Amino acid sequence: MSAIYSADDLIAGGEIFARMSPPVRLGVFGDPVAHSKSPAFHNAALKAEGICAAYAKIHVPEGKAAAAFRALPGAGFIGANVTIPHKAAALSAMDEADEYARRSGSVNTVVVQGERLLGFNTDGPGLVRAIREEFFVDLRDLRVVLLGAGGGAGRAIAVQCAMERCERLVLVNRTAEKARALAAELAPSFRSDRLQGPSERLQAIAFEEKDLREQLAHADLVINATSVGMRRTDAPLIPPSLLTPNLMVYDTVYAAGRSRLLEDASAAGARCANGLSMLLHQGALSFEIWFNRPAPLDVMRHALMEAA
Ligand code: NAP
Repeated sequence: MSAIYSADDLIAGGEIFARMSPPVRLGVFGDPVAHSKSPAFHNAALKAEGICAAYAKIHVPEGKAAAAFRALPGAGFIGANVTIPHKAAALSAMDEADEYARRSGSVNTVVVQGERLLGFNTDGPGLVRAIREEFFVDLRDLRVVLLGAGGGAGRAIAVQCAMERCERLVLVNRTAEKARALAAELAPSFRSDRLQGPSERLQAIAFEEKDLREQLAHADLVINATSVGMRRTDAPLIPPSLLTPNLMVYDTVYAAGRSRLLEDASAAGARCANGLSMLLHQGALSFEIWFNRPAPLDVMRHALMEAA
C-alpha cells in the first residue's frame, strides 16, 4: 500500500513532497483515503507518459480541507482529486469551476493555475464513458432509473443525465423529499416531447416496491448510486423479483466486487457492471484535464485491475 501524507504536510509548504523522487505533484484528498485506488493507476499513467511527477494519498480531515486546497499552489502541485467527504466543500474552495461542477455542486478534480484553483467534476462524464464501454449504448438514449439520487454521486449522475437530455429519468431516494427537490431543479432539461407515450420524462419516487415495479417496466438502465452494497452483508437494495432480463444494471459501488444487486441482476438475466469502469474513466478524464493529452487508458486499466 502506498504512503499516506497528511493535510499538514501540504499546509506546512509541501517540502516533503518536493524531496520525493519523482516529486509528489498530484494527490487525492479524502477521509478516509487509505482505500483509494487512484494512486495505483495515476502513477502508472505518469510513468508511461514519462511525466516526472508522482501521485499520493493525502489524508485531509474535515476541518483542514479549505487550508489544504489553498496550500496546493505553494506546494508546487499540478492539481488534485477529491473524494469523500470533500467534494462539495471543494467547490467553495475553487476560484472558478466549470458548468457541470457548479450544477452538480461538487468538484472531484482540481487544477492549479498559478495561484488560482480551477474545479471540475469528472464523475458524470466518466459514467457516460463507462456505460458506453460496458453496454455499447449512449446514456442519452436511455430511460434511466437512478437509485440514491439524493446523495453526492447520485446528484452528479442526475445532473449528467439532464445535461445529456437522456430519454427518461426516474430519481429514487430513501428520503423522497431530496429526489423531489432535485427533480424540480432538473425539470427544465426534460421539457420536450422526445418520448412517445404517456409516461413523464422526469419523475421522483421513494423506494416503494409498487412504484419501482411500475418505473422499471419503462426503463433500460438502473444505476445504483447509494452506498448500499459496499459491504457484502448489506440487505438487498430492491427486491430481486423487480429485475428483468431486458435491463442493464450499473452499480457505482465497486468495493465488494460483485454486489448483491449485481448478483440478483445477473441471476435475472440482466446485463450488469460494477463501478470500476466509472472509477477508471473519471480518473482518465482528470489526467486529460491536468495534462491536456489523451490518458494511457490501457495502462491505467491494467494498474487498476491489479490494485482491485
Ligand atoms: P452519500 O452522499 O453519502 O449518499 C448516499 C446515498 O445512499 C443517499 O442517496 C442515501 O439516501 C442512500 N442510502 C444510504 N443508505 C441507504 C439505504 N439503506 N437504503 C436506501 N438508500 C440508502 O454518498 P456518495 O458520495 O453519493 O456515494 C454513494 C456511492 O457512490 C458510494 O458507494 C461510492 O462508492 C459510489 N461512487 C462511486 C464512484 C465510482 O467512480 N465508481 C464515484 C463516486 C461515488 P438518503 O438521501 O435517504 O440518505
